[in-house]
Amino acid sequence: MTPKKEVYLVIGGSGFVGRHIVEHLLARGDVVSVFDIVQRHHDVDFYSGDITDESRLLEVFTKTGTTCIIHTASPPHGAKDPSIYYKVNVDGCKAVISAAQAAGVQKLVYTSSAGVVFDGGDVVNLDERAPFPEKSFDAYNDSKAQGEKLILEANGKGGLLTVALRPAGIFGEGDRQMMVGLYQAYQRGQTHFQVGDNNNLFDYTYVGNLARAHLIAADKLSSPPFTSSSQETLTTDSLKAA
Ligand code: NAD
Repeated sequence: MTPKKEVYLVIGGSGFVGRHIVEHLLARGDVVSVFDIVQRHHDVDFYSGDITDESRLLEVFTKTGTTCIIHTASPPHGAKDPSIYYKVNVDGCKAVISAAQAAGVQKLVYTSSAGVVFDGGDVVNLDERAPFPEKSFDAYNDSKAQGEKLILEANGKGGLLTVALRPAGIFGEGDRQMMVGLYQAYQRGQTHFQVGDNNNLFDYTYVGNLARAHLIAADKLSSPPFTSSSQETLTTDSLKAA
């Protein structure tokens, strides 16, 4: 039997990270559509919708025959009303999981955040075994942690396999948050002050590597009958070469 080809849907595919994932999928010849509240690109099929609308998600998953969802959508950090984070990142994840299970989607890759283990204190050499902090740094990080928990708890349920990735500050082509924020700090004259003794470290992730990590995570979520056009082994060397 010829293996069935994966059909990808990138939720939040009009955004910074989502767009890079779409480009990586297109570059290796995969079938991909975008689900988002706004359309910014016109080279793939686009489905307008809000992830808190479960019936719309179900309609789109079914219509596209999606086998693998890559869910990158979130409100940006810094919203005035924190309730938007819980609505999109917690209720939205619930709706994505439920609609995916109802539509028979096999894989769900979630863009979480390194902030899920941040409580404002130093974070040194933590890995994914570290527990969530008792109190999150803010509502954004708390909602991302709750969303990640839901996604991981759904693994193996209703025919769905799930995985979550935790990038730190993301930089690269198309960034509309990080460099803008740094530049605004410069414009406000806030770069005249130094916080700490020049030994502070922060973790940054290049968006192209992150996009590739999403594809590798999706590929590794299952063995046949589903294959992608570019299966590869996840090793430190393959990530370094990205
Ligand atoms: P972005 O704002 O550029 O893209 C997010 C996309 O999601 C946008 O196109 C937006 O329209 C869409 N979206 C938002 N709410 C939606 C909803 N209710 N329904 C459907 N679509 C919706 O953000 P980004 O920088 O690409 O971030 C992608 C993911 O990476 C997010 O989940 C974010 O939490 C995570 N993350 C980002 C950073 C960073 O530095 N940018 C760091 C760590 C984690």
